[in-house]
Amino acid sequence: MSLRTKFMLALLLTGLAAVAMVGGLAYVGMTKKVDSIRREQAAEHFHATVTAYLQQYGSWQASPGRDGFDEYMRSGDRPPPLSDGAQGEERRPPPPPQGGEGRPRAGEPPFRFILADQDYRVLLGAGVYHPGEPLPDAARKDARAVTVNGSVVAYVSPEGVITPSKQELQYLAAMRDALWFGVSAAAVLAVALGLLLSRSLGRTLGCLTDAVRAMHGGSLLQRVPVQGKDEVAELAAAFNDMSEKLARSHKELQDSHQTILLQAEQMRELSVRDALTKLHNRRHFDEQASTLFSHAVRHKRPLSVVIGDIDYFKKINDQFSHATGDAVLRQVGEILRSHMRLSDLVARYGGEEFVIAFPETELPQAAALCDKLRGMIESFPWHQVHPELKVTMSMGVYADLAAGTAEAMLQKADALLYRAKETGRNRVCFAA
Ligand code: GH3
Ligand code: MG
Ligand code: MG
Repeated sequence: MSLRTKFMLALLLTGLAAVAMVGGLAYVGMTKKVDSIRREQAAEHFHATVTAYLQQYGSWQASPGRDGFDEYMRSGDRPPPLSDGAQGEERRPPPPPQGGEGRPRAGEPPFRFILADQDYRVLLGAGVYHPGEPLPDAARKDARAVTVNGSVVAYVSPEGVITPSKQELQYLAAMRDALWFGVSAAAVLAVALGLLLSRSLGRTLGCLTDAVRAMHGGSLLQRVPVQGKDEVAELAAAFNDMSEKLARSHKELQDSHQTILLQAEQMRELSVRDALTKLHNRRHFDEQASTLFSHAVRHKRPLSVVIGDIDYFKKINDQFSHATGDAVLRQVGEILRSHMRLSDLVARYGGEEFVIAFPETELPQAAALCDKLRGMIESFPWHQVHPELKVTMSMGVYADLAAGTAEAMLQKADALLYRAKETGRNRVCFAA
């Protein structure tokens, strides 16, 4: 059952219960009060009638008895009204208190009273007791004495259920109608109020549910409308604050995560790069060359490794300055880097030494490429760096995988480099 339905049911039940309780209590209370007033008035009238009747004779025994009493009541000279006279026990409601002379009104219901003598022996039993029998103690309690010349000559006691008059029945019916009207009006009011209140409540809760689902889906920044100043509005406002803070924290976390990733990448890059030439360093080359070697052996593909060393570099440093030496290293590095394929691996191996690995490259192509690189280094316009500067490089190229490891191949290339140095420098020595 939805919250809205529960809310409306609660309102409806509360409204109906309140109206039923107030109306029902009023109805029962009023019915009782009317009964009690009518009973009192009827008793008063009957007592007055009996007193007046007995005053004429002094006592019941001295009177003509029941027939005389009925006749007396029928005559209408004295306190009014009598019933149909049968048994003289049923009496009609009294006229207004001091009037005392009204006749019984047509359609009005009878009341019943018991008349007993001064010794509580029944004279008129209202169809309940037989004349002459003693009045039970329970009935004596409500009995009222009839006094003539200062002595008690009889007792009058009410008996039976009082039947409401037609007029009273109309009053009660009107009250019932009012009660039903009240119940219907309360029901309509409760439904209308329920619809009105639950609509705004349901709308806000619906927005909150959608927003929470959206947050669950990843959109942390959500806003729901805040209407009024009740607890639901406070909940909506608190939710908006929470969503904003959560989104902000998440953004900060993401930014910081990005920064950490970037810094980690920079650190990793720094750890595999040479600061001067920006080429990869020896550590990176050794790792990658080993991988390239394994790949070449596994797939029976060619691989050539090269080691190059700048000739008389010590003299360059000494003759033109250490800064010029650095500039030469950067430029040689740039020439090598810019003529590599993406799959080739080039690194500064240390000092003025550079190493290269050419995957998928047989020795002749590698040697030819190295000779081309050597020529480029030699023919570079070094005079722009310094008018008298000349730079050449000697290289050793090795391409036999039988060496067993990348490192062993590099040692063989180094031996060929040594031979290039020995045989005049500025040249490429190679062997398969
Ligand atoms: P060879 O032709 O036999 O190779 O002679 P070389 O002078 O090039 O060889 P050597 O090993 O005698 O000298 C290498 C020099 O390189 C020594 C060192 O001072 C210099 N060097 C090493 N690293 C750097 C560097 O980072 N910057 C500069 N400017 N010089 C460096
Ligand atoms: Mg050297
Ligand atoms: Mg050298």
